[in-house]
Amino acid sequence: MTSAHPAPTAGAAPTPIAYDHVIVGGGMVADAAARGIRERDTADDTGAVVVLRTRVTALRPDAHELDTDAGDTYRYGTVLIATGGTPVALPIEGGGASDRVLTFRTAGDYRHLRALAAQADRIAVVGGGYIGSELAAALVQQGVDTVLVHSTATLGADVFPADLADHFAGMFRDAGVELVGGHEVVGGVAGDAGVRLDLEGGATVVADAVVSGLGIEVQTELAESSGIATGDGIVVDAHLRTDRADVFAAGDVAEYPDRILGRRRVEHVDNAEQMGRQAGRNLAGAGEEYTHTPYYYSVVFGTRYEAVGTLDGSLETVDDWVEPLERGVVYYLDDDRVVGVLLWNIDDRTDAARAVLTEDGPVDRDALIDRIREEAS
Ligand SMILES: Cc1cc2nc3c(=O)[nH]c(=O)nc-3n(C[C@H](O)[C@H](O)[C@H](O)COP(=O)(O)OP(=O)(O)OC[C@H]3O[C@@H](n4cnc5c(N)ncnc54)[C@H](O)[C@@H]3O)c2cc1C
Repeated sequence: MTSAHPAPTAGAAPTPIAYDHVIVGGGMVADAAARGIRERDTADDTGAVVVLRTRVTALRPDAHELDTDAGDTYRYGTVLIATGGTPVALPIEGGGASDRVLTFRTAGDYRHLRALAAQADRIAVVGGGYIGSELAAALVQQGVDTVLVHSTATLGADVFPADLADHFAGMFRDAGVELVGGHEVVGGVAGDAGVRLDLEGGATVVADAVVSGLGIEVQTELAESSGIATGDGIVVDAHLRTDRADVFAAGDVAEYPDRILGRRRVEHVDNAEQMGRQAGRNLAGAGEEYTHTPYYYSVVFGTRYEAVGTLDGSLETVDDWVEPLERGVVYYLDDDRVVGVLLWNIDDRTDAARAVLTEDGPVDRDALIDRIREEAS
């Protein structure tokens, strides 16, 4: 929890501890929001007070108060809920108690995996999204025998067109990653000697340890228990306000109206930084709309890709390669307009990609060729 105001007096307080602004969460959004507050508030002494190892257990919007598991009550002028999400765990018997089974979200998870990578001969990665694929690439590059279990027939086929997904999967195979595709993990057992993963269809995968990247469960409980509207996440308006006065939400936990792409929830760094900053400014009274359409990025084996909008491998695409499958732009089309743009080893073109996404259909497919490269040159 982060609070932007002078520190409370020590000891148990009989009355609520009062702050102008309270941020619930200690992730990227919390950091960006604290900086955003400082941009607006003029005092030099607005360094946030960081209250560690403390969970907010209840929020009372009418009273402008919240309670923590340390037994304290805080009174706020404005509050930001930036509680993100917790990773989805694998359904493995004994997995919760085993140090051979981990998810990947925190610095502690990173240290744990580094230690495992130094000891284990073989590590299984479960999940073919950007976290799973980055983990598999990193582990194999550390000399670990790596198997990547993913649910699509071809790694990346859910987000890339077929030829690019084949190429993407080939990068992993060429580096020595064993790819096991087409099946989800439905069970398994963790023991002293290692881990067995049971896949739908009956196959098994055995490894010394397993790390998963299966997405997050969004942490909306605080909002739900205080009567704040939730949908896919905590529902906010363009100012990042919830439906209760002086309560804001941002980052992975927030469902917001994107200016170009429509209402959605985004789990990416660019959104956490930009939305967090805007939320901080609005906590401090800026009253500005969040108009940034975020991009996301990933890097594997030296290939960096960035994307704006919807990447769906089942959509029609227009491919504009500078070098086939090595460097270029892929446009994703739906309902005769561009809904997503993939920049494959193409830097600094996200603004041009956003401009294409703002255009109404019907799209002129031929005009897309060279479009982003031309505009940027
Ligand atoms: C391994 C990994 C790799 C990633 N790689 C990329 C990438 O390559 N590209 C990209 O664009 N994005 C990437 N992301 C996504 C990006 O990091 C997240 O979108 C971003 O960090 C979300 O920030 P957040 O502050 O919204 O949430 P979080 O980081 O989840 O922070 C939420 C914080 O709130 C705290 N909290 C929760 N409930 C309470 C409570 N009741 N009281 C007090 N505190 C609470 C939590 O402990 C946590 O500190 C990656 C994420 C992970 C985990």
